[in-house]
Amino acid sequence: MGGRPASAAAARAQTAVPPAVAGVGLDSAAVRQAMVRRLAQQGVTQPAVLQAFERVERHCFVDSGLAAQAYEDTSLPIGWGQTISKPSVVARMLELLCEGQTLPLGRVLEIGTGCGYQAALLSHLCREVYSMERLRALHERARDNLRPMRIPNVHLIFGDGMLGYPKGAPYAGIIAAAGGESIPAAWLEQLAVGARLVAPAELQSGQQSLVVVQRSAHGFERRVLEGVRFVPLKSGTA
Ligand code: SAH
Repeated sequence: MGGRPASAAAARAQTAVPPAVAGVGLDSAAVRQAMVRRLAQQGVTQPAVLQAFERVERHCFVDSGLAAQAYEDTSLPIGWGQTISKPSVVARMLELLCEGQTLPLGRVLEIGTGCGYQAALLSHLCREVYSMERLRALHERARDNLRPMRIPNVHLIFGDGMLGYPKGAPYAGIIAAAGGESIPAAWLEQLAVGARLVAPAELQSGQQSLVVVQRSAHGFERRVLEGVRFVPLKSGTA
């Protein structure tokens, strides 16, 4: 694919995105396409994942002061000490979740709604998204962010995601945006046979890694992938 160099795209983003924030602008679509091209260059291959990134307006999920950076490959603060992961990491996790599966996936559980960006991406990849957040303020923020988008298949749940959400189980996929010292047993129990879980976890002290667990009729197969840095998975609500 052609396209302008990343630096020019970034320069364009600096000037083009703020006006687009007020309305729905073609400029925001152009910078989003540039981000999608970069993701493809970085090795994201699944068309459905790339299309989801092209459709969801990341700048609508961050403070207007950060909108100019919304399409750079960077994590951004979303308040209450939490961050929205950088697009390349989100894309990597979504690819792992969907790899080899028939799309759209069925019902998927997301732990850590945050600002709601990943939930919006997931809405294009699965039939139903159940997304849990333990901080009430962020749960409400995500609801406000998603409301104007009128996405019918995202269900936001305020609660401790360490316990999963048994009412929606079994899940065709589980994805977590916060990492603990292990993968909670409830998540494994709520994973459907044939489904996959993708989550960061600190399996060796001091090193958080991306973990993929595949459930089969015979049990659970775990793969530990590259090192990552996610906010901590905490119990309880606040
Ligand atoms: N997917 C989010 C990323 C948010 S950061 C987005 O697109 O913005 C991770 C989130 O996980 C934080 O908001 C944090 O409060 C939340 N979190 C941490 N532990 C949790 C738990 N036990 N249950 C639910 N949410 C949790």
